[in-house]
Amino acid sequence: MKTVKDLKIDKKVVLIRCDFNVPIKNKKIMDDTRIVESLETIRYCIKKKAKVVLFSHLGRIKEKKDLAKNTLEPIAKRLSELLNQEVIFINETRGKKLEDAVKNLKEGEVLCVENTRYEDLDGKKESTNDQELGAYWASLGDYFINDAFGTIHRAHASNVGIASHLESAVGFLIEKELKALSSLNRPKKPFVVILGGAKVHDKIGVIEKLVLKADYLLIGGGMAFTFLQSEGYQIGNSLIDYDSLDFCHEILKKYPEKILLPLDFRVSKEFNNKAKSRVVDITEIEDDEMGLDIGPKTIKIYEQYLKDAKTVLWNGPLGVYEFTKYRKSTEEILKYLVDENISTILGGGDTTSAATSLNLKDKVTHASTGGGATLEYLEGKKLPGLEAIK
Ligand code: AMP
Repeated sequence: MKTVKDLKIDKKVVLIRCDFNVPIKNKKIMDDTRIVESLETIRYCIKKKAKVVLFSHLGRIKEKKDLAKNTLEPIAKRLSELLNQEVIFINETRGKKLEDAVKNLKEGEVLCVENTRYEDLDGKKESTNDQELGAYWASLGDYFINDAFGTIHRAHASNVGIASHLESAVGFLIEKELKALSSLNRPKKPFVVILGGAKVHDKIGVIEKLVLKADYLLIGGGMAFTFLQSEGYQIGNSLIDYDSLDFCHEILKKYPEKILLPLDFRVSKEFNNKAKSRVVDITEIEDDEMGLDIGPKTIKIYEQYLKDAKTVLWNGPLGVYEFTKYRKSTEEILKYLVDENISTILGGGDTTSAATSLNLKDKVTHASTGGGATLEYLEGKKLPGLEAIK
C-alpha cells in the first residue's frame, strides 16, 4: 500500500481526506480524538512545505436545517490550536472562493473545506460518489492522501472519487489502523474477543469469521439477549433482534464452548439513568424489566477468561455506557485489561469512546477510530477507500 511517504509532495497542493466526524454539542467539540489522530499526517505535509487542503464529512445532511449545526468551522478552529498555526476555513464545498483560496495558499499553509456532506443536499453527491464532484475536488490538487479510516468502507466522492483522478496514498493514521488490525490475522493465542453493542445483525459476519480464530467470544451488551432468548431464557423487555434468533441458536449449537453468555445483569424498568435498578440472575428478569448492563458475577467470570489472553479484540460496549449507572462492566473490564497489561485492540465507535471518556485510550495497544470500517475489515470485505488507492 502506497503511503504518504511514497509521494513527492514537497511544495505541491496536497488534498487530505481526514475523519473529523466528532461529536459536537452547541458548537462545542465533545471529544477531539479523531482530530488529534489526524495531526501526524497533516504535520508531515506541513513540514514538507506542501499546501494542505483538508476534507471531511461531519454528521448527516438531509435538509437545509442540518447545515449550520454540521459546519466544520469549530473543527478548523480546534485544528488551528492543535497545529499552532492558522487553518484557513472556507465555508463552501465548491466555487470561486474555494478555488482562489487554494490557488493563494503558500507553502506550509493549511486550508479546511466545508463539510463534504453539504453536497448531499443536492442529490447525495458526496455519499453516492458523484463522478463530477470527485473530479472537481481532484482538480484542486496535485496529490491525494486518504487518512479517514472511519469512512474507508464507503465509496464517497471525497475518498474514492478524488482517488480515481489523482496519484494517491494512505496517511499515517490509516497505516497504523491497518497494521493493528492485520495483526489479528495471526493473533497471539489465547485470542479472546469481547463483543457487545446493540444489534447482533450488524455483527453476524464478524462473529462467523472470528469464531474460527478466537479461543473465546465473550458476549455482552444488548446483543446478549438475542443469544439468550434463542436458548429459551426469559429476557423481559430487553433489547431483542428477532431476525437474528436463528443465527444465534445455530452458532451456539456449533461452538458451545467458545461462546460465553452473561449469567447476571443490572436491570431496570426504564431506559434512563434515573429509574431504580437491581442486579438479577438471568433466570430472574421480570417481564417489565430490561437488562442494561452485565452483572458482577459475569464481570468476574469474563475476567478469568481474559486473564491469560495474549490478544484481546473488543467491539461494542457491554452495557448502556452512555448512562453512568450502566457503564460499570465496560469500565471495569477495560481497567482490568490495562492493569493486567493485556494486549488489547478496541474496535472503534463506542468502545473507543468509552476508553476515551475513562482516560484509558492511550493505555491500550490500539484504539481504532472506525467502528464500521473495523468490522468490515475483520469480515474480510474489500474496503472501497483502500481499493481506490491500490
Ligand atoms: P453498536 O453500535 O452495535 O456497537 O451498539 C452500541 C450501543 O449499544 C451503545 O449505544 C449502547 O448504549 C448500546 N447497548 C449496550 N448494551 C445495551 C443493552 N443492554 N441494552 C440496550 N442497548 C445497549
